[in-house]
Amino acid sequence: MHAHIRPQPGIMDIALYQGGTSKIAGRDDVVKLSSNENPFGPGDLARLAYARAGHDLHRYPPTDHAGLRAALGAHFGIDASRIICGAGSDEIISFLCQAYAGPGDEVLYSQHGFLMYRISALAAGATPVVAPERDRTADVDALLAAANKRTKLVFIANPNNPTGTMIPLEEITRLAEGLPKQALLVLDGAYAEYAENYDGGAALVDQRDNVVMTRTFSKLFGLGGLRVGWGYGPQHVIDVLNRLRGPFNLSNMQLDIAEAALGDTAHIARSLSENARLRDWLAEKLNAIGVVTDRSFANFVLARFRDAAQAEACNAALLSEGLIVRQVGSYGLPEGLRITIGDESACRRVAHVIGAFMESQQ
Ligand SMILES: *Cc1c(COP(=O)(O)O)cnc(C)c1O
Repeated sequence: MHAHIRPQPGIMDIALYQGGTSKIAGRDDVVKLSSNENPFGPGDLARLAYARAGHDLHRYPPTDHAGLRAALGAHFGIDASRIICGAGSDEIISFLCQAYAGPGDEVLYSQHGFLMYRISALAAGATPVVAPERDRTADVDALLAAANKRTKLVFIANPNNPTGTMIPLEEITRLAEGLPKQALLVLDGAYAEYAENYDGGAALVDQRDNVVMTRTFSKLFGLGGLRVGWGYGPQHVIDVLNRLRGPFNLSNMQLDIAEAALGDTAHIARSLSENARLRDWLAEKLNAIGVVTDRSFANFVLARFRDAAQAEACNAALLSEGLIVRQVGSYGLPEGLRITIGDESACRRVAHVIGAFMESQQ
């Protein structure tokens, strides 16, 4: 650090976020299963919108995102005036921390929660606080016990990354009802579409003034590279976040492609059904060879090994076969490997390599 020119307290405590790797030197049959991306990529409608984009690069984009918000409102049956769009849901998470938490305030999340909560809390000068989980699942009693008069934000991803587990809406509601008055509950719904009969908490947002939902185009919609996410909340929160948001935080291209993706019913249906089918197939294969997984409600499974050394060795075996999965030691799960559900051939390769690896361990 420089002797005189110093950043705000907390900034140097941030460990740089490591994205999933995508290349192995000398191999051209690599499959990246480390960032929970849709193996089919974006759908045809998004690709067409991308091809159309670029004709008006000299034009500033709209500042109010009215077109995309209206499309989101219609698609999800929610109030478009209480939606805010950002450069990935990461940007919404960052706005929330900047707006509501600062030095002396606490940002609470659960033990194996998404790394961006800690990063954004520290960036805002706030103190990250972790509540223990039970069997790799968020524990509402533990979260309520950890909340106090300094708690400003409580983040919970449902389903959670990297565990894939989720808690029922009744539990989320109990959490929202039990939190101290000054605390805002953020429901991160990055994987909400993958969970059947779950609205990501949208109805709860409508019923209460202390709940916000974040969503993304990065996972189901296959647009992680485009960087579009959004939040849905009570009017008082959206009014605050819009003051922090840069007027041109999303480009014309981002807005148009995201809107097109939302209307691609066929691509959405295919992505969901293939994910469900292959996720259950892979989990069953893994469990049959002694690699345990919790039931996943998302587009990945967390495979658990005997210990960190065995997970490390299996990761090396996968890499040597061109398969990149995610080690999750930074999430407090060194015995786990998070495996994104790829297409059928990728899932078969994963099952085959882990099967051979487990046999070599006998
Ligand atoms: C992938 C992911 C996000 C989405 O991030 P974007 O910035 O929208 O790409 C948010 N939360 C969790 C838990 C995730 O896994």
